[in-house]
Amino acid sequence: MTAGAIAAEYQTIIGLEVHAQVLTRTKMYCGCSADYANAAPNTHVCPVCLGLPGALPVMNKVAIETVVRTGLALQCDVPAHSKMDRKNYVYPDLPKGYQISQYDLPLCVAGTLTFDVAGVEKVAGITRVHIEEDTGRLVHEDLVDGQATLVDLNRSGVPLMEIVGDPDLRSPEEAREYLVTLRRILRYILASTGNMEDGAFRCDANISIRALDGGYVGPKVEIKNMNSFRAVERALKYEEVRQRAAVASGEALFQETRGWVDERGETTSQRTKEQAHDYRYFPEPDLPPLRIEQGAIAGFRESLPMLPVARIEQFVNNYGLSAHDASILTDERAIADVFETSLAGSQDGDVQKATANWILNDMMGLARAQGLAADQLPFSAIQIGDLVKAVQGGTLTGRAAKELLSQIGKDELPTTAAARLNLLSLDNDDEITAAAKAAVEANPSAVADFQNGKQAAVGRLIGETMKRTGGRARPDVVRQAIVKLLDEI
Ligand code: ZN
Ligand code: MN
Repeated sequence: MTAGAIAAEYQTIIGLEVHAQVLTRTKMYCGCSADYANAAPNTHVCPVCLGLPGALPVMNKVAIETVVRTGLALQCDVPAHSKMDRKNYVYPDLPKGYQISQYDLPLCVAGTLTFDVAGVEKVAGITRVHIEEDTGRLVHEDLVDGQATLVDLNRSGVPLMEIVGDPDLRSPEEAREYLVTLRRILRYILASTGNMEDGAFRCDANISIRALDGGYVGPKVEIKNMNSFRAVERALKYEEVRQRAAVASGEALFQETRGWVDERGETTSQRTKEQAHDYRYFPEPDLPPLRIEQGAIAGFRESLPMLPVARIEQFVNNYGLSAHDASILTDERAIADVFETSLAGSQDGDVQKATANWILNDMMGLARAQGLAADQLPFSAIQIGDLVKAVQGGTLTGRAAKELLSQIGKDELPTTAAARLNLLSLDNDDEITAAAKAAVEANPSAVADFQNGKQAAVGRLIGETMKRTGGRARPDVVRQAIVKLLDEI
């Protein structure tokens, strides 16, 4: 390859490989608890996940079913025959010296993932989804007499699914949206927590460039160590630029594995093709091959909840929400559920819209301020329903409702809290008339302005009256009272 032979136009080719921990109570091949994070090191272990000689693995049925459900959510085929294979390599966090994984007969194949990139729908292929097991964790510690690397095997044998995507992505932005969408689906079907910070959702990326005219096809570079969506996008952007610059300057690119160094914002070479592993896969002799009952597949498919894309469509069609609002409300299944439950079947379009707005603006803002998890709101569906009903029915003014939010007790109904705090709307006309009178008397300049034809002065008097009622008077009632008073002057 020479610089002069390179076409000006290049295309970026990206394929992603995701490892997601499967949400199960126990590990993949033994009965140890899979809750590895909340336990003292090496307390959730047994001869199987410690890799002791002679210990025999037993398959976790729930993990297999969860991977099959994931495959179905990704439109995969689920072949009738599957098997486990040994992937051999040596590393201190892998006590057996091999990982029980799948090689040529994965549980799920040939699926698709549909996602949205800046308003444009994109479909990427899913090559395969297979089941395997996680490794232990190395812990680097500073001891009094120097540094030590310790191993914690609580995570050893935790079920892991590997989701391999076709090289169908054409930009770092597409890669990011693919991941966001995939993670959302895994969370919806309760297949994984998808928690990236905790390592429950990890991504490796293959990236290369090729000339649009076919005159140049670059080697595949694998990038590792990306721990957030942002890191994936940044690493791929960096690599896209690096590879284009190399080709432009006539520098040779080669197949290699590179690590993303977040602090420096760059990828660095870890190993080249010559140092690539030969895993010497062979069928796992301690586990029988799997036969997936094709009759059971329909049942798994039916057990899937409505997926995010369908739910957005439903929110737009049934509740008249914008696609933007619907996509935020459905981002987390738990919040979409709270929204629908708090409607309590209401067919009233105003109630539906108001409920969406209260959740999107006030509830989510409050949740962030309180440091709640992404799938949690500060109030229950019952509380939200009560609040919206009170505001729509005029029992609470919008202003009083906002003031109320921070003062509602746990499990307390907003209307109960409003009564306790004397924030319910004034339904006593005398009180409003008195406040309006006081406002008019205290603001002779506004009255004079009004008499000189300045309509805006009415707004000032309404504001003054509202202040005097502590925000508890409904603006329309106050307006009536002010207009009546001004007419009488
Ligand atoms: Zn175990
Ligand atoms: Mn793997």
